[in-house]
Amino acid sequence: MRAVTFQAPGVVTLEDRPQPEPESPTDAVVRIELSGVCGSDLHIYHGRVQIEPGFTIGHEYVGRVVEAGDQVKHVAVGDRVLGCFQTADGDCFFCRRGLFHRCVNSRTFGHGATLGSLQGTQAEMALIPNADLVLRRVPEGMSPEVALFAGDVMGTGFHAIQESGMRPGDLVAVLGLGPVGLCAVQVARATGAAHVLAIDTVPERLAVAESFGAQPLHATEQDVKAAVKDLSEGRGVDVSIDAVGDPRVLESAIRITRACGSIQCVGVYAERAEVHMGLLWLKALTLRGGHANVLGHVDRVLGMLSAGVLDPSPLVTHHMTLEDAPEAYAVYDRREALKIVLAP
Ligand code: NAD
Ligand code: ZN
Repeated sequence: MRAVTFQAPGVVTLEDRPQPEPESPTDAVVRIELSGVCGSDLHIYHGRVQIEPGFTIGHEYVGRVVEAGDQVKHVAVGDRVLGCFQTADGDCFFCRRGLFHRCVNSRTFGHGATLGSLQGTQAEMALIPNADLVLRRVPEGMSPEVALFAGDVMGTGFHAIQESGMRPGDLVAVLGLGPVGLCAVQVARATGAAHVLAIDTVPERLAVAESFGAQPLHATEQDVKAAVKDLSEGRGVDVSIDAVGDPRVLESAIRITRACGSIQCVGVYAERAEVHMGLLWLKALTLRGGHANVLGHVDRVLGMLSAGVLDPSPLVTHHMTLEDAPEAYAVYDRREALKIVLAP
């Protein structure tokens, strides 16, 4: 089968790889129909998140089950399914508390040896461990493009807002308007934010945020601090979402969030970073990071997608094929696309 592999920073290629086989009775094999290209894949593409050359990348996927182990009960051969970006054992200290993102045996698709050596989904087929926990049938009437968002990007947007402790009536700032930030904008609006400030430098992305009901703010051409002050009687926003993963963004979040407010970092941090701890301390801010608990949120997110309360379909800007992967990564890296979906 063919698979998109990471070779070196800036270089991805399509290569032949062995067909995956179930390794345990709880595994399934899925024939991939669509796989998304994510901001997390860009960290790998840039060499910021390091993986072995030749490893298959990708972790957002919809496809059909073609093999299911004896102990797989909730999906069957022939089902169209979507999957989460991560697996969990469902049984450890953390899983028993619903904290699937910190499962001690968690494996993330397409992230190399550091995250469990699980080959990615930008391929014709993928091995899915613990299929009952990781996969869901695509609900009747839901397009595969929309379903694709449940197991990562919308699940991450949902996690960002839920973990931030945002309450109805809050003033929210979302910093970074890639697909993840834009999904966080939708979730904030859908769950009662009074006002959402959407901050980025890409005009097209600011326009999408505005169409989702947020107030767009250009990070460098507009005075973000002044806008926040105007809207909050000088206090700052109740909640900030860092959907970038850059210490400069975290620094602005610390500055624009009101005292006793919270900052949720869903953007990935892979290295040591310096922020103004004194300011964070003085303002009594709450700061959280980490992977999104998509396994814990996927059913709620699917419910909201099915009901049309959340609708990521405007985010799918490009349909391409696995052969186009080198071009897809280059286009996305130039921020000329939002969500690119690759079909085999
Ligand atoms: P993306 O690369 O498409 O979007 C990032 C956006 O941030 C871009 O629009 C860019 O213009 C903007 N940006 C960069 N610097 C900025 C600045 N200084 N001020 C304002 N905006 C700035 O990525 P994405 O797919 O939307 O993902 C966003 C982040 O979330 C990435 O770091 C990704 O790895 C991470 N992520 C985390 C999880 C998780 O489990 N925590 C899951 C999925 C994605
Ligand atoms: Zn992703």
